[in-house]
Amino acid sequence: MTSQPLPAQLPQTDLTRHRRLREQGSLERAELDAILDAGFVCHLGVVVEGRPLVVPTVYGRDERQLFVHGSVASRSLAGGTPVCVTVTHVDGLVLARSVFEHGVNYRSAVIHGEARKVTDPEEKLEGLRRLTEHATPGQWSYARRPSRKELAATTLLALSLEEASVKIRTGAPDDGDGPDAELGLWAGTLPLTAVWGAPVADPLLAPDVPVPGHIARREGTRHG
Ligand SMILES: Cc1cc2nc3c(=O)[nH]c(=O)nc-3n(C[C@H](O)[C@H](O)[C@H](O)COP(=O)(O)OP(=O)(O)OC[C@H]3O[C@@H](n4cnc5c(N)ncnc54)[C@H](O)[C@@H]3O)c2cc1C
Repeated sequence: MTSQPLPAQLPQTDLTRHRRLREQGSLERAELDAILDAGFVCHLGVVVEGRPLVVPTVYGRDERQLFVHGSVASRSLAGGTPVCVTVTHVDGLVLARSVFEHGVNYRSAVIHGEARKVTDPEEKLEGLRRLTEHATPGQWSYARRPSRKELAATTLLALSLEEASVKIRTGAPDDGDGPDAELGLWAGTLPLTAVWGAPVADPLLAPDVPVPGHIARREGTRHG
């Protein structure tokens, strides 16, 4: 597989071209990377036995591909079929004067492609490392790594980040300069922020086991 970086501009294909709310679209790959790096849960959409199935799942990534994993029994992880993955961050509610203009401030990404089942043992381990580190940096070298049996029970899919799209909405409601401004109603945004809480020790943990620094440090920091 080539190690060439993907183009700085996202492609405009039949699948990725924004048709509605185009002003919210961005073609900057850096925006895609930032959205992916700000989260660790995606929604994986796949057609299973002729029906759409969308499952929330954890992801990781490298410069060129997104990784998702799960049980070898998982129907959504069959691989070799077209999939669509979304990542969404909600930054707040947009409360307009009219219900019609209500909305959400958000950053979202949609990735289209064919998911590839990773079978090479080294590549699989590296993908799982990326996935683990993406959600909890520092955890791959702290926790026990997967055994051969656990690896055999795990499917890892890789999805190219080539064909992807981004939409971002920020700012105030859109009806501040229209006729509804005369209504005298309050309008504005209600920001939403997710913050990591204090680590809660497993009740079965021996009392002398300290919280590792890479976990303790996240308390009070913003997620997303
Ligand atoms: C939290 C949240 C709430 C939303 N609520 C609403 C709502 O209530 N009503 C509403 O109309 N829209 C809402 N949107 C916007 C919605 O995601 C779509 O962008 C919009 O509805 C246009 O859909 P469409 O099927 O016409 O897309 P099209 O423009 O036909 O989609 C074409 C291509 O554009 C890309 N694309 C579309 N939407 C997105 C996206 N959000 N992020 C990245 N790429 C995208 C995809 O690659 C897609 O294949 C919301 C978005 C978010 C993140």
